[in-house]
Amino acid sequence: MRLITSIAEMENFSRQARAASESLALVPTMGALHEGHLSLVRQAKRQCDLVVVSIFVNPAQFAPGEDLARYPRNLEQDLELLGPYNVGAAFAPSAAEMYPAGYETFVEPGAVAVLLEGAARPGHFRGVASVALKLFNIVKPNLAYFGQKDFQQAQVIRRLLEDLNLDVRLVICPTVREPDGLARSSRNAYLRPEERAAAPLLYRSLRRAEELAQTGETDAPKLLEEMRKVFADEPRAQLEYAAIVDPTRFQPVERVTSGCVALIAAQIGPARLIDNLILGPPGVSPETLLQLALTAGSMAATQVRVPGLEAEALRLRIENCRDCAALTSIWLPPRQFLTRYLKRDYPDLNAVRVAVIGRDAPGATENFLYHAPENVNRFVTGLYELLGVKDFAEFKTRFVLADAIRCHATRLHVPEKALANCAKHLNAELKLFPNLKTIVVLGEDAYRQFQEFVLGRTPAAIRPLGDLLKEQGWAREDVSIPALGERRIQAFYCFHPTFVYTRSPSIAAMLA
Ligand code: AMP
Repeated sequence: MRLITSIAEMENFSRQARAASESLALVPTMGALHEGHLSLVRQAKRQCDLVVVSIFVNPAQFAPGEDLARYPRNLEQDLELLGPYNVGAAFAPSAAEMYPAGYETFVEPGAVAVLLEGAARPGHFRGVASVALKLFNIVKPNLAYFGQKDFQQAQVIRRLLEDLNLDVRLVICPTVREPDGLARSSRNAYLRPEERAAAPLLYRSLRRAEELAQTGETDAPKLLEEMRKVFADEPRAQLEYAAIVDPTRFQPVERVTSGCVALIAAQIGPARLIDNLILGPPGVSPETLLQLALTAGSMAATQVRVPGLEAEALRLRIENCRDCAALTSIWLPPRQFLTRYLKRDYPDLNAVRVAVIGRDAPGATENFLYHAPENVNRFVTGLYELLGVKDFAEFKTRFVLADAIRCHATRLHVPEKALANCAKHLNAELKLFPNLKTIVVLGEDAYRQFQEFVLGRTPAAIRPLGDLLKEQGWAREDVSIPALGERRIQAFYCFHPTFVYTRSPSIAAMLA
């Protein structure tokens, strides 16, 4: 890891990184690193080739009288904590480097920055937006990582990126908490033991709102009243505000819906602490809740495509599939496929025109095509023959193998419910390839799954595969796929390549 303190050197480093077409991540922090920061670093490492962590206590975001002077600073320890993550660089400029004499330009955020933290800390978001823009210009990241912990800040950044047409994609990561619920924060270090013991009440108060919302209470003032009650018996804590807002405009709501955010700020002894929770249905993961809160308004137009990121979002969805988690044995490894193989074998997801849906080597993960591309088994031999390619290297230039029954198949026969569950992933996986024109469906299980759960046909409307393929061993149909926004796709149905009785002839010519 390089420690960089000058802007010129940082710019140079980034220029080289981008010339080598590496995806570059920026994780902006004010140092005094803890698990919350490190979770952003880990996420950035998973999704990008190169990660830059900035460490800068930004004077511009502290109002007069705030804790700028005593804010914890420990660069040596921060670098030590970053050590195991193999990040490319830590960028730790001085205040004079960032704001030299004569500096006078600032970014003024809009309505999203007015209430809550904006009202409590005049000029705070102006300082945040200004330093963020400077960092984006200096580091030139493809992606920037922010924590949900500072939800309003993340929304200010989101607007900044959108309004000023910055080509940086924002990733927001869930809040990391202590075991008792207290959100990790550099400012927790200010707390004396008895104040630390009281501090989890911010989280308790948020949880109270969540609990009520999940039992069907939609009246925001009622939820807020209950949140305030949690503070009534704790003299060490002074509630500053409790609010429930819609996640994009940051305006208070009267009626709570899924995706609304409950936010809280309180003074506990010398520390001013903030926290928030996204309100949503019970049992939903923090990542999904974030998606829920963030899906309003599209950022897509200004964002770079980073294959790893799409795969990562999908990985999260798969990991959050409760049925998958409940299975003790998962035959095929969706996680590895998506995070490792997909990124390795398909650096440009736009280039893939044909997806092949079919089950590969059930029960024998070591034979799975992406695990062992050099492996020659009955499935891959048949697959290559069918598609007219000679090996995996050629296969991956045009085709991707999307697994029909990725995680629920534990036997040769695949139950209906498993087909339905995996179809969720299958639909999501198909979306990763925006230029898909053709889908080749291999075998009976994949055919039924495709017809019912991808095309949305009723079982009664599905022709038996055997009838369909009787004459020539394959069939073609032009279909529109709801998950792809009703896009027209040509589908080829074939027998499974290991189905010995009636092999489909090669469809290579039709795919040319
Ligand atoms: P800070 O150093 O406090 O400015 O935080 C730097 C980044 O880390 C911001 O994007 C924060 O939202 C994020 N962050 C801080 N605490 C946490 C936490 N407990 N969980 C997740 N992200 C956090």
